[in-house]
Amino acid sequence: MTIVSEILEFNEQFVEQKRYEKYLTDKFPDKKVAILTCMDTRLFELLPKALNLRNGDAKIIKNAGAILTQPFGSAMRSILIAIHDMGVKEVLVIGHHGCGMTQLDSVSLVEKFKANGISDEVLDTLENSGIRMERFLRGFDSPEDGVKHSIQIIRKHPLMPSFVPVHGFIMHSDTGKLELIDDGYAAIEPLRGDEAK
Ligand SMILES: [Zn+2]
Repeated sequence: MTIVSEILEFNEQFVEQKRYEKYLTDKFPDKKVAILTCMDTRLFELLPKALNLRNGDAKIIKNAGAILTQPFGSAMRSILIAIHDMGVKEVLVIGHHGCGMTQLDSVSLVEKFKANGISDEVLDTLENSGIRMERFLRGFDSPEDGVKHSIQIIRKHPLMPSFVPVHGFIMHSDTGKLELIDDGYAAIEPLRGDEAK
């Protein structure tokens, strides 16, 4: 049985038995937060449970390392849509201990590309078009550095309202314990007023 057929079989039962009913909600996050976090499998259920988040509570944006690589890339766009169109009032960036992006080695990753059949020719073409693998695959020295880097891009973004706090956290990947490393309330202008409620 393939993964897809297994999923489809389960899915049919799930819908038939109306097991979705307890998850019914709408697209507007009840807790009015957007979370940028890592795709790490350890956080998959742990993170929402550890933050007391249920279906419908938050917009969760995930990628490798919770890193914003570009101010006008898809992760930042998601955050902006969540704020301007979905009622999000605060942004949480959550990195975690033991993140794979801290030890990312672009040279060995390129070797893995090759082992998976990506030709030197393709890699050369990319390099010649200005897509440098070393830059494209760059991680960060520590999860704290990654979170701080992302926070700076969000806070300084020209389309980011000044009254929206952006907080930084590191989560323990086993216990779910959160450590606040950058308090977004301290960083925003004191004109928040009613907007921050
Ligand atoms: Zn990670």
